[in-house]
Amino acid sequence: MPIPSTMRAMVLEQPGRPLKWLEVPVPRPGPEQVLIRVHTCGVCRTDLHVLDGELPHPKLPLILGHEIVGTVAAMGRGVRQFKPGDRVGVPWLGATDGTCRYCRQGRENLCDHPRFTGYTLDGGYAQYAVAGQRYIFPLPAAYGDAEAAPLLCAGLIGYRSYRMAREAGARLGIYGFGAAAHITIQIAVFQGKQVYAFTRPGDTETQEFARRLGAVWAGSSEARPPEELDAAIIFAPVGALIPAALRASAKGGVVVSGGIHMSDIPAFPYELLWGERVVRSVANLTRADGEEFLQIAPQVPVKTEVQTFPLDQANEALERLRRGQIQGAAVLVAAP
Ligand SMILES: [Zn+2]
Ligand SMILES: [Zn+2]
Repeated sequence: MPIPSTMRAMVLEQPGRPLKWLEVPVPRPGPEQVLIRVHTCGVCRTDLHVLDGELPHPKLPLILGHEIVGTVAAMGRGVRQFKPGDRVGVPWLGATDGTCRYCRQGRENLCDHPRFTGYTLDGGYAQYAVAGQRYIFPLPAAYGDAEAAPLLCAGLIGYRSYRMAREAGARLGIYGFGAAAHITIQIAVFQGKQVYAFTRPGDTETQEFARRLGAVWAGSSEARPPEELDAAIIFAPVGALIPAALRASAKGGVVVSGGIHMSDIPAFPYELLWGERVVRSVANLTRADGEEFLQIAPQVPVKTEVQTFPLDQANEALERLRRGQIQGAAVLVAAP
């Protein structure tokens, strides 16, 4: 298929304003980059944080979107890992310097000079996107284009968060039951965890969804679970959930915050942390996380539930995500 010179994209010109449906140039792949014809792109909570101006210094104007599924349409100089027609996935981690002390220690998720897809690099709310060959993944064939998109952030970050929590014991709480949670619970149940799902108060539909995916208990984030938790993962961007999760945790419990932004954490008595409880965040991903997760997902097998929207309805998808009206994950579909 010939590559046009222009494409349609949903463009963020200024945080706080809706995305605009614009005609923009098709980007050109630089050395070691591929040009990808976008089939689908997942909508992530982080996109809302960028849109709302809660994350500093985005590229502007910016094309959001860091869960890109597409096929390689053209290649820059030096691309050896992929060929035209290959289906690939593009995650949040877009580039690292490879030289800072974090990169050298295999902790590239903490790189001092990272670039992120759909934040400091243009992302996938568009018909085409470019990405570095070393930062993208081949995708398991078992997943369709829409079903694969949420694996690339919700799945990856969920998996990294779960890895930080799983050694603490069998009782795992998950606070905020959206895209990341609906994937994480499937891996946790597969590995024998008892999952307690916490949703917005009164959201019985999502509680039912969690039970259907194997939660032994589902209830309001304000409720105390019937058993003490060994670990908890917080996906909702609500700081008050940290003391809430600590309060629900047993001695030695680990509370992992998986989001990139959270409202302020209220002060809480030391007693909640006492007993060797741990609070930690999970930041970004490494490529090794991606490879490991994409291998495990089809074995479980993780099934993603998606609600699709045409690309030009990205604003609608984001607003529904904001209001908690997406069950599973929202995915944009680029028209061919
Ligand atoms: Zn680095
Ligand atoms: Zn994300």
